[in-house]
Amino acid sequence: MRTDRTFTMLKPDAVEKGHIGAIFEKINASGFRIVAMKLTQMTTADAKEFYAVHSERPFYGELVEYMTRGPIVAAILEKENAVEDFRTLIGATNPADAADGTIRKLYAASIGENAVHGSDSDENAAIEGAFHFAGREMF
Ligand code: UDP
Ligand code: MG
Repeated sequence: MRTDRTFTMLKPDAVEKGHIGAIFEKINASGFRIVAMKLTQMTTADAKEFYAVHSERPFYGELVEYMTRGPIVAAILEKENAVEDFRTLIGATNPADAADGTIRKLYAASIGENAVHGSDSDENAAIEGAFHFAGREMF
């Protein structure tokens, strides 16, 4: 399992607010190479499957509604220690707890609408990347 790639989504709130450029500037400045990237919109079935691990949580319905309400930017990013370093760059799930300078501190509104996704393990990075991209879309 390679340890130099992670998967991200700029969530609908970040796209709606026009933050794509600013967030990717931070991602590039932090040393990540873009392996794959597209503007896309998840269907309800997509979001339910992507977040299936949270299906028993009270916020699952709201999460699926939010993640399907508009386009997202999906991307695969490459850097040494990608998963951990990207989680550091985005900050805590709740922006109120996120460190200064992190993407969620800067751009997230709430624990639900928190601007960006980052994979939590190498295994999930591979699964999530393959969920959104075909092999010929990865460079
Ligand atoms: N979420 C939420 N309420 C919560 C926890 C999470 O709405 O109490 C949403 C939020 O958008 C979060 C996503 O569910 O990013 C997935 O939750 P997870 O715990 O995996 O957080 P993450 O890995 O995104 O930091
Ligand atoms: Mg998570």
